[in-house]
Amino acid sequence: VNPTCVCLLSGGMDSAALLWHLIRQGEQPVCLAVDYGQKAVMELTAARALAHAAGAPLYCLRLPLAEFASSALTDLREPIPPPEESARARTIVPFRNAHLLLWAATVGAHAGCERVFYGATKEDAALYPDCRQPFALALEGALSLGLPGDQEVKLHSPWFGRSKAQVLCDGLILGVPYALTWSCYRGTRAPCGACDACASRAAAFAEVGLEDPGLVGLAR
Ligand SMILES: [Zn+2]
Repeated sequence: VNPTCVCLLSGGMDSAALLWHLIRQGEQPVCLAVDYGQKAVMELTAARALAHAAGAPLYCLRLPLAEFASSALTDLREPIPPPEESARARTIVPFRNAHLLLWAATVGAHAGCERVFYGATKEDAALYPDCRQPFALALEGALSLGLPGDQEVKLHSPWFGRSKAQVLCDGLILGVPYALTWSCYRGTRAPCGACDACASRAAAFAEVGLEDPGLVGLAR
């Protein structure tokens, strides 16, 4: 079956819900997971498990972003910061989404589809400028200008303006296997429960009033 769109899959909750949403919409997504040197290598294990569970093809790509872009998510000399407002800026990886979206568009061009989907939520947009709609629109315009004829690239985040908890509600209805997802920024085998990603995941599950299946069976 020819893919109809590209789905950026981080291995986290929001992109997992996106993949299930796309399949429910009748799409045949091809997924892209990127190893950009993040400490959280379990993200990539999660992306593989999710794509497999969804029956979607997956490309895994390695980009040497960590060699150039300083961030607490990639720099081994710097600890993952606690979930405090003042420390959040250190989790920004410069140009990360530009790279991810460009490569997703490249996979799309290879697979014959122009639409790229990614799972940026309201909370992501609040902190990360490259998770905001103006950035996506400008990049979409630039990429399309670089293509011959009337070819174009379309970048879509169905979760723009929606909170993590709202996306979680959608995902639960869609049957997303949340036990397979990974959110923690640390490179440990079990989520740390103390970083910003663990905190926002816990807040989303608390808001919908459910136990996180990703934590079941773990000694904390
Ligand atoms: Zn964590």
